[in-house]
Amino acid sequence: MRTIPVEDFNRIEEIIISCKICHVGMVDQSGIPYVLPMNFGYKEGVIYLHSAQEGSSISILEFNPNICITFCTDTKLLWQNEEVACSYRMNCESAICHGKVVFEEDFDEKVKALNIIMSQYSSREFSYSDPSVNNVKIWKVNIDKYSAKVFGAPGKKPSIFTSK
Ligand SMILES: Cc1cc2nc3c(=O)[nH]c(=O)nc-3n(C[C@H](O)[C@H](O)[C@H](O)COP(=O)(O)OP(=O)(O)OC[C@H]3O[C@@H](n4cnc5c(N)ncnc54)[C@H](O)[C@@H]3O)c2cc1C
Repeated sequence: MRTIPVEDFNRIEEIIISCKICHVGMVDQSGIPYVLPMNFGYKEGVIYLHSAQEGSSISILEFNPNICITFCTDTKLLWQNEEVACSYRMNCESAICHGKVVFEEDFDEKVKALNIIMSQYSSREFSYSDPSVNNVKIWKVNIDKYSAKVFGAPGKKPSIFTSK
């Protein structure tokens, strides 16, 4: 499958903000990987996530805060010849970001993070009750390392591709 690396960070930001969910990978004390689908927010090189105060992911992150987050845009199935399996490809863009989770404890900063997460999904403004802010765990991830690729980009003759 034809892949094109994306070097421009602005383009990587576009990939991130065009996604509705991400997949967050972490590694537990025994070296076993654990990957969760999660909602997220993004602003200025920082990915914001939120969760309950307790759970398997929190136990893992308290031991090992390193995470790897993948984003994949909507996919489009393309092929050159419907009867030839190896002519099928999936057109999409994907980004991988590495960083360390820092749990935000400051009330006002948690509200800001919730607003950033909500702005990924809605242009409305929201208010939050004190208990809902206190009960939520906010994860902040500064992107330390990233890469992105375009997959299944049509060749020089895009008209020969068909899609569903
Ligand atoms: C589209 C989508 C978006 C989500 N967004 C968020 C979000 O923004 N914040 C958030 O906190 N949660 C989100 N979730 C739920 C999230 O994936 C986890 O289920 C949740 O965070 C609990 O994780 P935990 O490690 O605390 O699990 P625990 O409650 O400790 O789970 C116990 C066991 O259940 C299993 N399990 C947990 N989660 C999943 C899962 N997703 N699929 C299959 N098995 C599972 C695991 O084996 C785990 O060991 C989302 C789920 C989906 C599908």
